[in-house]
Amino acid sequence: MFTHSRVKIAIIGAGPVGSLCACFMAENGYDVTVYESRTDIRLDKSTSGRSINLALSERGINALRFIGLDNIVIEELTEPMYGRMIHSIDGHTYSIMYDINKSKCLYSVSRKELNAFLLTKLEKYPNVKLNFSHKLVDVDFNAKLLTFQKSLENQQQTVKPDVIIGCDGAHSVVRKHMIRQPMFNFSQTYIDHGYFEISLPSAATKDTLAPGHLHIWPRSTFMLIALPNKDKSWTCTLFMPMDQFPLILESENEDILRFFNEYFKDFMDLIQPEHLLNQVTNGKARTLISIKCNPYHVNDNFLLMGDAAHAIVPFYGQGMNAGFEDCTILNQLLEEYDHDLKNVIKTFSLRRIEDAEAISDLAFYNYIEMRDLVARKSFLWRKKLDNILNKWFPQTWIPLHSSVSFTTIGYKQCKLDNQWQDQILFRMFILFATFFSISLYFFASIMSKSL
Ligand code: FAD
Repeated sequence: MFTHSRVKIAIIGAGPVGSLCACFMAENGYDVTVYESRTDIRLDKSTSGRSINLALSERGINALRFIGLDNIVIEELTEPMYGRMIHSIDGHTYSIMYDINKSKCLYSVSRKELNAFLLTKLEKYPNVKLNFSHKLVDVDFNAKLLTFQKSLENQQQTVKPDVIIGCDGAHSVVRKHMIRQPMFNFSQTYIDHGYFEISLPSAATKDTLAPGHLHIWPRSTFMLIALPNKDKSWTCTLFMPMDQFPLILESENEDILRFFNEYFKDFMDLIQPEHLLNQVTNGKARTLISIKCNPYHVNDNFLLMGDAAHAIVPFYGQGMNAGFEDCTILNQLLEEYDHDLKNVIKTFSLRRIEDAEAISDLAFYNYIEMRDLVARKSFLWRKKLDNILNKWFPQTWIPLHSSVSFTTIGYKQCKLDNQWQDQILFRMFILFATFFSISLYFFASIMSKSL
């Protein structure tokens, strides 16, 4: 353990990324103070907006591995998902495994439980101070001053740390202030689609869904997905264009049930209609946003990480994994630059931006794959071909989903690899089609001569 106890690090936001980043900085011996606007998630019963399930994959696990938490998280908090279970509209189901050997899987984890687990780990470090109900309201970049609104005491507090890491999510206040700084580029896109959560508690299910899978009901312009929980319940999410939600969710009970029965008949066989209606009445559709900025730092002491730096749409299940990977990269840079924080902060932007932009683009593409392409024959053929080529050339032919979810190859490289794989398959297809047409031509001319 290094001794950097005199360097004061302020981490804004105690979500999954802020908590993990604080663990990394504490492990490195820094004097860490975490400020979180909300109350302690472990004590809070109203978890609105924080109750989603996430797919944890290799990049996230790798970050947890650095601080020895990978196995305990996997064993205590997660349920494995070895593939996708596709539910056709006629009720027919089929499984698409992530890996032919069934050795690789994604892990379904409750965001709230993972966050709570990391906070409990965090408060064991003697060099960490956790401040809940501290909302960052102002940032003075020149004076390095942060102002917090303390909701319990209804007072303001100003602090002057050496380094500030903004892990305050997609609507980051740190970033909001960075936008006013020269040479800081920023863009945000609300996609047309949003999401609505439906829980399927074990008590509310008449039967159950096949375990070990991420279940998908792809319906072209919308889809329902279900992720398993340890207590045999399922957390389901309906994704669809935001302007269609009111037409369904705000209609009469019988119309709501008619919609679900028409498109998700086998899902309706599992849930009590009253339970579904209760959730529809009390729930709310939420928007999805994609954020890009460049750089991720201002001066040599303000840095953004996680969703604050690169919020992405959730369709690759990579938002948190990418945020956790940020922590791994920060840690690598601390070693590489021997804790010269000024260089670490500047280099972080250079090292990370291209990869974060690549996963942002891939995540958009994967929505089309999940809600539409997985239901097509061409997708299944491509998947089979990918599996065969991966078996023959395991080091060179890694299908896109596998390289994103089961390796730590840079996201940009994953995207580039997929592009040359697509080109090779396209050329193979043209070659095959040409060979087939020529053969057909010769066969037809031989036949016509012999007749
Ligand atoms: P957040 O989780 O947003 O946490 C930010 C924290 O900062 C919060 O605790 C907030 O209260 C606090 N904060 C905010 N403002 C302030 C302030 N002014 N002062 C102090 N504190 C503040 N990712 C995956 O890897 N896999 C998945 O399968 C997956 N599925 C998803 C499904 C859905 C429907 C959605 C919406 C997201 C999904 N994600 C997934 C993305 C994932 O949830 C996020 O990437 C992840 O939560 C980001 O963590 P974070 O800590 O950066 O930000």
